Amino acid sequence: QSVIECRGIVKSFSGVQALRGVDIAVHAGEIHALLGQNGAGKSTLVKILNGVHADGSYSGEILIDGKPVRFGSTSDARGHGVGYVPQEIEVLENLTVAENVFAGQTGLGGLLVSQRALQARTRALFRDLGLTIDPGALVASLTSAQRHLVMIARALSFSPRVLMLDEPTASLSGAEVDSLFAVLRRLREQGRTMIFITHRLPEVLALCDRATVLRDGRVAAEIGREDFDADRFIFAMSGQRLQRLYP
Ligand code: ADP
Ligand code: MG
Ligand code: MG
Repeated sequence: QSVIECRGIVKSFSGVQALRGVDIAVHAGEIHALLGQNGAGKSTLVKILNGVHADGSYSGEILIDGKPVRFGSTSDARGHGVGYVPQEIEVLENLTVAENVFAGQTGLGGLLVSQRALQARTRALFRDLGLTIDPGALVASLTSAQRHLVMIARALSFSPRVLMLDEPTASLSGAEVDSLFAVLRRLREQGRTMIFITHRLPEVLALCDRATVLRDGRVAAEIGREDFDADRFIFAMSGQRLQRLYP
């Protein structure tokens, strides 16, 4: 059974057909790679799955736990258990880490939550993730990798069924990628379902359980971990076989 699935997604921007009929099915508990070259349609697809491009601006169907859903907005999608970490980091520099994690929900249940309570909740969430960031620190003092982790924690604070990360490694160093992957592996051990966008093949081989490869707005391949093979991925991404100088 798929946690989230889409069928026949078609999306055009003026003059550009970004998605030309995309089907994707994400199984419970997997890290599902969404792989493809720049412009393949990866971001457009997850934006649709997160209500950024609202119902009516695309055609096709989205199903959660097998039931059709329609999203009018990102908060709609969040309400259906879809968590999203966009590629562009969005944080409030002069607020604390804890305030950023719970941004937009500090009035939970109509009660004002104190800074102390917010920090305690953040500390508990970070302990779960194996993070050592101080919840009381100002976000202005964090590295971009730490800011990304704050965004992930924010998405998790809504307890999503599925978490989608759009190129979280794009601006990270090798060591930072390793620490992010440690967090994602821990989430997988906890049973989280994730979509992980990248255009870097080694990251898929290192982390993911299954991969959908997009090329020019279409699914070029869907490959399970047991069939992961670099040449196969490269062919799916580019449509070209590697020219081997030394066969
Ligand atoms: P990827 O994330 O795989 O790099 P995108 O989904 O960002 O690909 O883009 C797919 C195609 O749609 C590209 O040709 C891109 O230029 C186009 N596109 C994406 N967003 C917009 C937009 N808001 N307006 C116009 N064209 C867009
Ligand atoms: Mg891109
Ligand atoms: Mg993109």
